[in-house]
Amino acid sequence: MRRTIQLRGISRLSQDDTVQLQFHFQDSAQEQESILFFTFPCSCEKALVTDISDAFLLALYPICARKDMDLTSDIPASKEFYRKLQALNTFLGHHSQVLHAIHISAETTEFERKGEQEWRLASGSLGVDCLHTLYCAEHNPLYPRPTHLVFNNTGSNEEGGKQQKELLQGRIANTQAFCKEYGYQFLFVDSNYKSLFGVRYVHTQLYINSAIAFMLGHEVSVYYVSSAGHLFQTLDFNHAPGHIDFLLYPFLNTHSLDFCTIEGDWTSRFYKTKDLVSYPPAQKYLNVCFDHAQNCCICEKCRRTLITLEALDAVDGFAPCFSLKTYADNKDHIFADFLLDYQKGDDYALEIIPFLKKKLTRKHHLLAWYKRTYLAIRHLRGGVALTKLLHLKCW
Ligand SMILES: [Zn+2]
Repeated sequence: MRRTIQLRGISRLSQDDTVQLQFHFQDSAQEQESILFFTFPCSCEKALVTDISDAFLLALYPICARKDMDLTSDIPASKEFYRKLQALNTFLGHHSQVLHAIHISAETTEFERKGEQEWRLASGSLGVDCLHTLYCAEHNPLYPRPTHLVFNNTGSNEEGGKQQKELLQGRIANTQAFCKEYGYQFLFVDSNYKSLFGVRYVHTQLYINSAIAFMLGHEVSVYYVSSAGHLFQTLDFNHAPGHIDFLLYPFLNTHSLDFCTIEGDWTSRFYKTKDLVSYPPAQKYLNVCFDHAQNCCICEKCRRTLITLEALDAVDGFAPCFSLKTYADNKDHIFADFLLDYQKGDDYALEIIPFLKKKLTRKHHLLAWYKRTYLAIRHLRGGVALTKLLHLKCW
Protein backbone atom coordinates (compact mmCIF):
# COMPACT_ATOMS: atom_id res chain seq x y z
CA MET A 1 0.00 0.00 0.00
CA ARG A 2 1.33 3.44 -0.92
CA ARG A 3 2.33 5.79 1.85
CA THR A 4 -0.22 8.59 2.20
CA ILE A 5 -0.47 11.91 4.00
CA GLN A 6 -4.07 12.64 4.95
CA LEU A 7 -5.36 15.94 6.30
CA ARG A 8 -7.95 15.23 9.02
CA GLY A 9 -8.84 18.70 10.28
CA ILE A 10 -7.85 22.36 10.62
CA SER A 11 -8.08 24.31 13.87
CA ARG A 12 -7.12 27.72 15.15
CA LEU A 13 -5.55 28.43 18.53
CA SER A 14 -5.26 31.94 19.96
CA GLN A 15 -2.54 32.59 22.56
CA ASP A 16 -1.65 36.01 24.01
CA ASP A 17 -0.50 38.02 20.99
CA THR A 18 -0.35 35.18 18.44
CA VAL A 19 -2.77 32.92 16.61
CA GLN A 20 -1.79 29.46 15.41
CA LEU A 21 -3.22 27.63 12.42
CA GLN A 22 -3.02 23.88 13.06
CA PHE A 23 -3.29 21.19 10.39
CA HIS A 24 -4.05 17.78 11.92
CA PHE A 25 -2.81 15.04 9.62
CA GLN A 26 -2.08 11.33 9.51
CA ASP A 27 1.00 9.87 7.91
CA SER A 28 0.13 6.24 7.05
CA ALA A 29 3.68 5.23 8.10
CA GLN A 30 3.07 6.49 11.64
CA GLU A 31 0.53 5.50 14.30
CA GLN A 32 0.00 8.91 15.83
CA GLU A 33 -1.73 11.87 14.24
CA SER A 34 0.61 14.87 13.81
CA ILE A 35 0.08 18.62 13.82
CA LEU A 36 1.71 20.98 11.36
CA PHE A 37 1.39 24.52 12.69
CA PHE A 38 2.00 28.04 11.49
CA THR A 39 2.00 30.85 14.08
CA PHE A 40 0.99 34.38 13.07
CA PRO A 41 0.61 37.71 14.90
CA CYS A 42 -2.93 38.05 16.35
CA SER A 43 -3.65 40.78 13.77
CA CYS A 44 -3.94 37.92 11.25
CA GLU A 45 -6.79 36.14 13.04
CA LYS A 46 -9.60 37.24 10.70
CA ALA A 47 -7.49 36.58 7.63
CA LEU A 48 -6.91 32.89 8.39
CA VAL A 49 -8.74 30.30 6.29
CA THR A 50 -9.84 27.23 8.26
CA ASP A 51 -12.50 25.65 6.08
CA ILE A 52 -10.52 24.69 2.96
CA SER A 53 -7.34 22.67 2.56
CA ASP A 54 -5.53 24.55 -0.24
CA ALA A 55 -2.65 25.77 1.95
CA PHE A 56 -1.99 22.32 3.43
CA LEU A 57 -2.07 20.56 0.06
CA LEU A 58 0.37 23.09 -1.35
CA ALA A 59 2.74 22.98 1.65
CA LEU A 60 2.84 19.17 1.59
CA TYR A 61 3.03 18.81 -2.18
CA PRO A 62 6.88 19.04 -2.47
CA ILE A 63 7.34 16.53 0.38
CA CYS A 64 4.96 14.00 -1.14
CA ALA A 65 6.15 14.51 -4.73
CA ARG A 66 9.80 14.00 -3.70
CA LYS A 67 9.07 10.89 -1.66
CA ASP A 68 6.41 9.53 -4.06
CA MET A 69 3.67 9.60 -1.44
CA ASP A 70 -0.04 10.27 -1.99
CA LEU A 71 -1.79 13.32 -0.58
CA THR A 72 -5.46 13.35 0.48
CA SER A 73 -7.70 15.61 2.52
CA ASP A 74 -10.92 15.19 4.49
CA ILE A 75 -11.34 18.96 4.25
CA PRO A 76 -12.46 20.24 0.84
CA ALA A 77 -10.14 22.20 -1.44
CA SER A 78 -11.28 25.18 -3.48
CA LYS A 79 -12.21 24.14 -7.02
CA GLU A 80 -9.93 26.51 -8.85
CA PHE A 81 -6.87 25.77 -6.72
CA TYR A 82 -7.48 22.02 -6.89
CA ARG A 83 -7.55 22.05 -10.69
CA LYS A 84 -4.33 24.06 -10.79
CA LEU A 85 -2.52 21.86 -8.28
CA GLN A 86 -3.40 18.77 -10.31
CA ALA A 87 -2.00 20.47 -13.42
CA LEU A 88 1.18 21.47 -11.59
CA ASN A 89 1.57 17.91 -10.33
CA THR A 90 1.25 16.52 -13.86
CA PHE A 91 3.60 19.15 -15.31
CA LEU A 92 6.40 18.65 -12.77
CA GLY A 93 5.91 14.88 -12.66
CA HIS A 94 6.60 14.88 -16.40
CA HIS A 95 9.54 17.32 -16.49
CA SER A 96 11.37 16.71 -13.23
CA GLN A 97 13.69 13.82 -12.44
CA VAL A 98 13.17 14.21 -8.69
CA LEU A 99 9.44 14.94 -8.37
CA HIS A 100 6.87 12.20 -8.97
CA ALA A 101 3.37 12.72 -10.33
CA ILE A 102 1.41 11.69 -7.23
CA HIS A 103 -2.22 10.98 -6.45
CA ILE A 104 -3.86 14.05 -4.86
CA SER A 105 -7.49 13.81 -3.76
CA ALA A 106 -10.01 16.00 -1.94
CA GLU A 107 -13.63 17.09 -2.29
CA THR A 108 -13.93 20.53 -3.85
CA THR A 109 -15.97 23.61 -3.03
CA GLU A 110 -16.11 27.32 -3.87
CA PHE A 111 -13.91 29.57 -1.72
CA GLU A 112 -15.88 32.42 -0.19
CA ARG A 113 -13.72 35.38 0.76
CA LYS A 114 -14.73 37.23 3.90
CA GLY A 115 -12.18 40.05 4.20
CA GLU A 116 -11.44 43.23 2.27
CA GLN A 117 -8.59 41.64 0.31
CA GLU A 118 -6.35 44.67 0.70
CA TRP A 119 -3.22 42.91 1.91
CA ARG A 120 -0.32 42.66 -0.51
CA LEU A 121 2.52 40.50 0.72
CA ALA A 122 6.20 40.51 -0.19
CA SER A 123 9.27 38.88 1.31
CA GLY A 124 10.98 40.63 4.21
CA SER A 125 14.34 38.87 4.01
CA LEU A 126 16.14 42.10 2.97
CA GLY A 127 18.35 40.19 0.54
CA VAL A 128 18.99 41.35 -3.03
CA ASP A 129 15.86 39.65 -4.45
CA CYS A 130 13.58 41.00 -1.71
CA LEU A 131 14.84 44.59 -1.89
CA HIS A 132 14.72 44.57 -5.68
CA THR A 133 11.04 43.62 -5.56
CA LEU A 134 10.37 46.59 -3.25
CA TYR A 135 12.45 48.80 -5.52
CA CYS A 136 10.41 47.71 -8.56
CA ALA A 137 7.10 48.24 -6.74
CA GLU A 138 8.17 51.80 -5.84
CA HIS A 139 9.24 52.62 -9.39
CA ASN A 140 6.38 51.11 -11.38
CA PRO A 141 2.94 52.69 -10.85
CA LEU A 142 1.20 49.64 -12.36
CA TYR A 143 1.88 47.72 -9.16
CA PRO A 144 0.38 48.83 -5.82
CA ARG A 145 2.90 48.99 -3.00
CA PRO A 146 3.18 45.86 -0.78
CA THR A 147 1.45 46.35 2.57
CA HIS A 148 3.08 43.52 4.57
CA LEU A 149 6.61 42.11 4.57
CA VAL A 150 6.65 38.44 5.58
CA PHE A 151 9.48 36.85 7.50
CA ASN A 152 9.06 33.08 7.54
CA ASN A 153 10.92 30.96 10.04
CA THR A 154 10.12 27.74 8.26
CA GLY A 155 13.54 26.34 7.61
CA SER A 156 16.40 28.53 6.52
CA ASN A 157 17.03 29.93 9.96
CA GLU A 158 17.26 26.49 11.49
CA GLU A 159 20.43 25.79 9.56
CA GLY A 160 22.52 28.21 11.62
CA GLY A 161 23.55 25.58 14.19
CA LYS A 162 24.56 27.10 17.52
CA GLN A 163 24.09 30.60 16.20
CA GLN A 164 20.51 29.90 15.14
CA LYS A 165 18.70 31.81 17.87
CA GLU A 166 20.94 34.85 17.69
CA LEU A 167 20.81 34.83 13.89
CA LEU A 168 17.03 34.58 13.82
CA GLN A 169 16.50 37.32 16.43
CA GLY A 170 18.98 39.57 14.64
CA ARG A 171 17.27 39.10 11.29
CA ILE A 172 13.83 39.70 12.79
CA ALA A 173 15.11 42.93 14.39
CA ASN A 174 16.53 44.08 11.02
CA THR A 175 13.23 43.52 9.20
CA GLN A 176 11.20 45.11 12.01
CA ALA A 177 13.39 48.22 11.89
CA PHE A 178 13.07 48.33 8.10
CA CYS A 179 9.26 48.02 8.24
CA LYS A 180 9.03 50.76 10.86
CA GLU A 181 11.22 53.15 8.85
CA TYR A 182 9.55 52.59 5.47
CA GLY A 183 5.91 52.01 6.49
CA TYR A 184 5.27 48.29 6.01
CA GLN A 185 3.43 45.91 8.34
CA PHE A 186 5.83 43.30 9.72
CA LEU A 187 4.55 39.72 9.61
CA PHE A 188 6.59 37.05 11.38
CA VAL A 189 5.43 33.48 10.71
CA ASP A 190 6.84 30.62 12.77
CA SER A 191 6.30 26.94 11.96
CA ASN A 192 7.34 23.40 12.83
CA TYR A 193 7.45 22.43 9.12
CA LYS A 194 11.22 21.85 9.05
CA SER A 195 11.32 19.86 12.29
CA LEU A 196 8.41 17.67 11.13
CA PHE A 197 9.69 16.89 7.66
CA GLY A 198 13.42 17.69 7.77
CA VAL A 199 13.65 18.67 4.12
CA ARG A 200 15.93 21.32 2.68
CA TYR A 201 14.50 24.82 2.70
CA VAL A 202 15.49 25.49 -0.93
CA HIS A 203 13.28 22.61 -2.09
CA THR A 204 10.19 23.76 -0.21
CA GLN A 205 10.53 27.54 0.14
CA LEU A 206 8.39 28.44 -2.88
CA TYR A 207 5.55 26.19 -1.77
CA ILE A 208 5.60 27.27 1.88
CA ASN A 209 5.71 30.98 1.06
CA SER A 210 2.78 30.50 -1.32
CA ALA A 211 0.89 28.32 1.18
CA ILE A 212 1.16 31.12 3.76
CA ALA A 213 -0.53 33.49 1.29
CA PHE A 214 -3.37 30.92 0.95
CA MET A 215 -3.58 30.60 4.77
CA LEU A 216 -4.23 34.36 4.95
CA GLY A 217 -6.66 34.08 2.03
CA HIS A 218 -9.49 36.16 3.51
CA GLU A 219 -7.34 39.30 3.35
CA VAL A 220 -4.45 38.71 0.91
CA SER A 221 -5.02 39.58 -2.73
CA VAL A 222 -1.44 39.76 -4.05
CA TYR A 223 1.80 37.98 -3.25
CA TYR A 224 4.75 39.73 -4.88
CA VAL A 225 7.20 37.01 -5.80
CA SER A 226 10.87 37.86 -5.30
CA SER A 227 12.22 35.59 -7.97
CA ALA A 228 15.67 34.07 -7.42
CA GLY A 229 15.87 32.94 -11.02
CA HIS A 230 15.78 34.98 -14.18
CA LEU A 231 14.43 34.61 -17.66
CA PHE A 232 17.68 33.88 -19.47
CA GLN A 233 19.10 31.04 -17.42
CA THR A 234 18.87 27.36 -18.30
CA LEU A 235 15.70 25.77 -16.92
CA ASP A 236 16.35 23.18 -14.24
CA PHE A 237 13.38 21.18 -12.98
CA ASN A 238 15.48 19.20 -10.52
CA HIS A 239 17.10 21.92 -8.42
CA ALA A 240 15.53 24.62 -6.24
CA PRO A 241 12.05 25.59 -7.50
CA GLY A 242 13.02 29.24 -6.98
CA HIS A 243 15.00 28.95 -10.22
CA ILE A 244 11.89 28.21 -12.28
CA ASP A 245 9.27 30.04 -10.25
CA PHE A 246 8.17 32.15 -13.22
CA LEU A 247 6.97 28.86 -14.75
CA LEU A 248 5.38 27.52 -11.58
CA TYR A 249 3.46 30.54 -10.28
CA PRO A 250 0.94 30.66 -13.16
CA PHE A 251 -0.21 27.26 -11.87
CA LEU A 252 -0.98 28.78 -8.49
CA ASN A 253 -2.81 31.96 -9.49
CA THR A 254 -6.50 31.97 -8.66
CA HIS A 255 -9.19 34.64 -8.96
CA SER A 256 -8.71 35.58 -5.33
CA LEU A 257 -4.93 35.39 -5.10
CA ASP A 258 -2.45 36.81 -7.58
CA PHE A 259 1.15 35.57 -7.43
CA CYS A 260 2.81 38.41 -9.22
CA THR A 261 6.34 39.15 -10.38
CA ILE A 262 6.76 42.87 -11.01
CA GLU A 263 7.91 43.75 -14.50
CA GLY A 264 11.66 44.30 -14.35
CA ASP A 265 12.20 41.83 -11.51
CA TRP A 266 13.10 38.89 -13.75
CA THR A 267 16.59 40.10 -14.35
CA SER A 268 19.90 38.69 -13.18
CA ARG A 269 21.36 39.31 -9.73
CA PHE A 270 23.99 41.63 -11.19
CA TYR A 271 21.38 43.93 -12.74
CA LYS A 272 19.23 43.75 -9.61
CA THR A 273 22.21 44.92 -7.56
CA LYS A 274 22.80 47.66 -10.14
CA ASP A 275 19.30 49.01 -9.48
CA LEU A 276 19.86 48.85 -5.72
CA VAL A 277 22.97 51.06 -5.69
CA SER A 278 20.70 54.08 -6.03
CA TYR A 279 18.02 52.83 -3.61
CA PRO A 280 18.61 54.27 -0.10
CA PRO A 281 16.66 51.50 1.77
CA ALA A 282 19.06 48.95 0.25
CA GLN A 283 22.14 51.01 1.07
CA LYS A 284 21.07 51.00 4.70
CA TYR A 285 19.52 47.54 5.15
CA LEU A 286 20.81 45.09 2.52
CA ASN A 287 21.46 41.81 4.34
CA VAL A 288 22.91 38.86 2.46
CA CYS A 289 25.07 37.07 5.03
CA PHE A 290 24.87 33.28 5.39
CA ASP A 291 26.14 33.25 8.95
CA HIS A 292 25.37 36.47 10.80
CA ALA A 293 22.56 38.98 11.32
CA GLN A 294 25.01 41.70 10.19
CA ASN A 295 26.98 41.13 6.99
CA CYS A 296 30.33 39.50 7.82
CA CYS A 297 32.13 40.39 4.53
CA ILE A 298 33.73 36.91 4.60
CA CYS A 299 31.08 34.30 3.69
CA GLU A 300 30.33 33.35 0.11
CA LYS A 301 27.22 35.51 -0.22
CA CYS A 302 28.85 38.57 1.36
CA ARG A 303 31.85 38.22 -0.96
CA ARG A 304 29.65 37.75 -4.01
CA THR A 305 27.66 40.88 -3.15
CA LEU A 306 30.75 42.97 -2.36
CA ILE A 307 32.42 42.08 -5.63
CA THR A 308 29.24 42.98 -7.49
CA LEU A 309 29.16 46.34 -5.73
CA GLU A 310 32.85 46.75 -6.57
CA ALA A 311 32.11 46.13 -10.26
CA LEU A 312 29.46 48.85 -9.99
CA ASP A 313 31.80 51.29 -8.14
CA ALA A 314 29.29 51.33 -5.30
CA VAL A 315 30.92 49.71 -2.24
CA ASP A 316 31.28 52.98 -0.29
CA GLY A 317 27.55 53.69 -0.55
CA PHE A 318 26.86 50.47 1.36
CA ALA A 319 29.03 51.37 4.36
CA PRO A 320 26.00 51.09 6.71
CA CYS A 321 25.69 47.35 5.88
CA PHE A 322 29.26 46.21 5.25
CA SER A 323 32.43 46.89 7.26
CA LEU A 324 34.65 48.66 4.76
CA LYS A 325 37.72 47.85 6.89
CA THR A 326 37.01 44.08 6.87
CA TYR A 327 36.41 44.30 3.15
CA ALA A 328 39.67 46.23 2.55
CA ASP A 329 41.61 43.67 4.63
CA ASN A 330 40.27 40.78 2.50
CA LYS A 331 39.77 42.45 -0.86
CA ASP A 332 42.76 40.90 -2.66
CA HIS A 333 41.66 37.38 -1.70
CA ILE A 334 38.06 38.10 -2.71
CA PHE A 335 39.29 39.25 -6.14
CA ALA A 336 41.58 36.23 -6.53
CA ASP A 337 38.83 33.77 -5.53
CA PHE A 338 36.51 35.43 -8.01
CA LEU A 339 39.13 34.91 -10.73
CA LEU A 340 39.19 31.22 -9.82
CA ASP A 341 35.39 31.10 -10.11
CA TYR A 342 35.69 32.74 -13.51
CA GLN A 343 38.26 30.18 -14.67
CA LYS A 344 35.91 27.39 -13.54
CA GLY A 345 33.16 28.86 -15.74
CA ASP A 346 30.92 30.04 -12.91
CA ASP A 347 27.89 31.80 -14.47
CA TYR A 348 27.90 34.68 -12.04
CA ALA A 349 31.64 35.34 -12.44
CA LEU A 350 31.29 35.20 -16.24
CA GLU A 351 28.59 37.87 -16.11
CA ILE A 352 30.50 40.24 -13.85
CA ILE A 353 34.09 39.94 -15.01
CA PRO A 354 33.73 42.40 -17.95
CA PHE A 355 32.68 45.08 -15.45
CA LEU A 356 35.54 44.26 -13.09
CA LYS A 357 38.43 43.94 -15.51
CA LYS A 358 39.80 47.43 -15.00
CA LYS A 359 40.21 46.75 -11.26
CA LEU A 360 41.97 43.41 -11.56
CA THR A 361 45.74 43.82 -11.17
CA ARG A 362 48.73 41.53 -11.71
CA LYS A 363 48.71 40.90 -7.94
CA HIS A 364 45.20 39.41 -8.14
CA HIS A 365 46.16 37.18 -11.07
CA LEU A 366 49.29 35.99 -9.23
CA LEU A 367 47.31 35.32 -6.07
CA ALA A 368 44.73 33.35 -8.09
CA TRP A 369 47.55 31.33 -9.69
CA TYR A 370 49.00 30.61 -6.23
CA LYS A 371 45.60 29.49 -4.88
CA ARG A 372 45.00 27.25 -7.88
CA THR A 373 48.43 25.65 -7.44
CA TYR A 374 47.87 25.24 -3.71
CA LEU A 375 44.52 23.51 -4.29
CA ALA A 376 46.09 21.27 -6.96
CA ILE A 377 48.81 20.17 -4.51
CA ARG A 378 46.23 19.37 -1.84
CA HIS A 379 44.43 17.11 -4.29
CA LEU A 380 47.58 15.01 -4.75
CA ARG A 381 48.15 11.92 -2.66
CA GLY A 382 49.84 13.19 0.51
CA GLY A 383 49.17 16.74 -0.68
CA VAL A 384 47.70 17.95 2.61
CA ALA A 385 50.82 16.83 4.49
CA LEU A 386 53.02 18.45 1.84
CA THR A 387 51.30 21.84 2.18
CA LYS A 388 51.83 21.65 5.94
CA LEU A 389 55.50 20.69 5.50
CA LEU A 390 56.06 23.65 3.16
CA HIS A 391 53.98 25.96 5.42
CA LEU A 392 51.69 26.80 2.51
CA LYS A 393 48.45 28.58 3.31
CA CYS A 394 45.60 29.65 1.09
CA TRP A 395 43.83 32.29 3.17
ZN1 LIG B 1 28.58 36.93 5.42
